[in-house]
Amino acid sequence: MIQIYNTMNKRKEEFVPITPGEVKMYVCGPTVYNLIHIGNARPMIVFDTVRRYFEYSGYKVNYVSNFTDVDDKIIKKANEEGVDAKVISDRYIEECKKDMASMNVRPATTHPQATKEIGGMIKMIKKLIDQDYGYVAQDGTVYYRTRKFREYGKLSHKNIDDLRSGGRSLLVTGEDQKEDPLDFVLWKPKKEGEPYWNCPWCKGRPGWHIECSVMSKRYLGDSIDIHAGGEDLIFPHHENEIAQSEAANGVPFAKYWMHNAFLNIDNRKMSKSLGNFFTVRDILEHYDGQVLRYFMLTVHYRSPLNFSRELMEAAKTSYERIVNCAENLRFLLEKASGTMTEEEKAIAGQADAYRVRFEEAMDDDFNTANALSAIFELVTFINSHADGASAELLQTMLKELTTLTDICGLIPERKVELPAEEVAFIEAKIAERKAAKKARDFAKADAIRDELKAKGIILEDTREGVKWKKA
Ligand code: AMP
Ligand code: ZN
Repeated sequence: MIQIYNTMNKRKEEFVPITPGEVKMYVCGPTVYNLIHIGNARPMIVFDTVRRYFEYSGYKVNYVSNFTDVDDKIIKKANEEGVDAKVISDRYIEECKKDMASMNVRPATTHPQATKEIGGMIKMIKKLIDQDYGYVAQDGTVYYRTRKFREYGKLSHKNIDDLRSGGRSLLVTGEDQKEDPLDFVLWKPKKEGEPYWNCPWCKGRPGWHIECSVMSKRYLGDSIDIHAGGEDLIFPHHENEIAQSEAANGVPFAKYWMHNAFLNIDNRKMSKSLGNFFTVRDILEHYDGQVLRYFMLTVHYRSPLNFSRELMEAAKTSYERIVNCAENLRFLLEKASGTMTEEEKAIAGQADAYRVRFEEAMDDDFNTANALSAIFELVTFINSHADGASAELLQTMLKELTTLTDICGLIPERKVELPAEEVAFIEAKIAERKAAKKARDFAKADAIRDELKAKGIILEDTREGVKWKKA
């Protein structure tokens, strides 16, 4: 039984899906104006792991994560480069996808983009205006009448009257066209040089919060199981999403709200102005994406995570210990044979205990720190029973290990790094072989295969084309 800490109720609750066997989850994604930083990578890795654990537990997961592709920062960057905003957002969506792949973060079921969902946003804003939750100011800006939503503040546990007095400077942004400083923007008029869309109120663009309400509705329905993101989003972003969605749809928006704590650097807040800021790409120059992923999972997602070189080195050593264990099993398997003896069956039974411990940790609000400890104990156990084991026991232990690492998105395989020119050579040979086969010169094709084999490169013909690996 999976327990989730629900920010809404400030306690762990048993996960009961809206539709049996299915999980509908929405994770707020990045604004795409730059390469993503390692702070952005934390929710990506954490919630990808949550998704994987749900799947392992037998659920079908519909996982939606947006790209915010219309925003002041994107427009600023586009103006600096003298290109369309779309050029900037397309570029950084592609780069973000590459970083995700490096960290073995699977693509979402759907990655909606704000600029492709404007119709839905206009529709929801219209509905909010019809119901008196939205109003149009003189210059065409559409605001949300925050005070009308009686439950405003229920997620962030803020009292609306405290917000008014305490948060005035935060909430008053100079627009005196607002009826109340608490009101927030649903739609705003365009300024010179900005992308815009036509709508009944003014040529302009949507506010940030409306995009998630609309995309979540479109791809997951009015009520979803889990809405997630970094803890900075609790207020005002998620509070505003709730106000919009529940007013427009008339049903509860999300059943469970999950928020990851922040990633700090050398125990200080990571920020551009402090100069202690790393992109994922910076880190990938020094470490494999798997090490970064391992590092992110060493701490429970609701605790702050400190990034330092020492901790990354420790993560590297730990990850390599798991890889070595798996590689040793594969090595032993090449020569091993036979089925399990009675004694070995008992050993296999003992190995199950680590999976149970792993599951207990993950069931407890996805405690990946304890789950990794269980994997470590399994590694120690395997290392002490692998030598001289039958093929069946080795297989069983390898399966046990990779099932658990897979849930964490960790791949316990040694990567063979070949110099670029060697890769180019292999690929040229594969192309030559393909041409030979097409010309029905099978002798030549076989000769190329043998030539590569002599260099330790094995070719495999698959439906997707020719794959190669180092022997
Ligand atoms: P943004 O592009 O700023 O909207 O951020 C995208 C996602 O990354 C959101 O879920 C943020 O809460 C999250 N995020 C941003 N900075 C950090 C950080 N330093 N640590 C953890 N999560 C972060
Ligand atoms: Zn969002």
